[in-house]
Amino acid sequence: MSGVATALSGLAKRGLAVVYPEVCQLCHDETARPEDGYVGAACLAQLKPIEAPFCRKCGQPFDGEIAGDFECTNCREMGLKFECARGVMRGTEEMLTAIHRFKYQQALWLEPLFRRLFAEVAVEQIRLWRGDCLVPVPLHPVRFRERGFNQAETLCRNLSQDVALPVVSRAVKRIRVTRTQALLSRGERLANMRGAFAPAKMNLNGKRVVLVDDVLTTGATTSECAAACLKAGASAVCVWALARGLGSPSN
Ligand SMILES: [Zn+2]
Ligand SMILES: [Zn+2]
Repeated sequence: MSGVATALSGLAKRGLAVVYPEVCQLCHDETARPEDGYVGAACLAQLKPIEAPFCRKCGQPFDGEIAGDFECTNCREMGLKFECARGVMRGTEEMLTAIHRFKYQQALWLEPLFRRLFAEVAVEQIRLWRGDCLVPVPLHPVRFRERGFNQAETLCRNLSQDVALPVVSRAVKRIRVTRTQALLSRGERLANMRGAFAPAKMNLNGKRVVLVDDVLTTGATTSECAAACLKAGASAVCVWALARGLGSPSN
């Protein structure tokens, strides 16, 4: 890091300490450290990683045992275009609230925590899968202007440093503004996302692509984005998301 960058980063850290006293920013009721993203121990305990069993293809976690080859309802109904998808954390209320603040309220103090949670689970698995590069799910330019940043790209850049793979951010683009998916059923999500992405300038040239997003629910968004990556020349696409939204089976 250059001297200027170091000085700026030091200023940013001091700035954060002024803006955020060391109090948990989720419950405002316990002490919290900057390296934990200003989330205290009690709230951190509510952030739970996804543990087996989960669907091998779409990452949907299940209670109980899964025996032999098994296709989950979500996969059967969605016709997903990626090879596999995994979420790191369960989409608990606390986790989704934290991501919501990061995304819509620019709660960038969460970044170190998200980086650590993501890397702890994903780095080894991405290496085992033999990923060549990371691609963030792009935002439409209109949404980018509204929000000021792409949360998927921020997560992706941090993960790229931890897994030592390059980020290719101009391989696919979002060509349609889509409705928010939260209240849509599986079928409506598929229809909503159809044709939302297209290959862009950069060719992915036979690469094994790790597509990165903040939240994965049915996979409608990442599946369409994976299809655009394949059109852009990727040989395989695996999705990694910070959290797996736990939509009810009918969603
Ligand atoms: Zn708390
Ligand atoms: Zn599945």
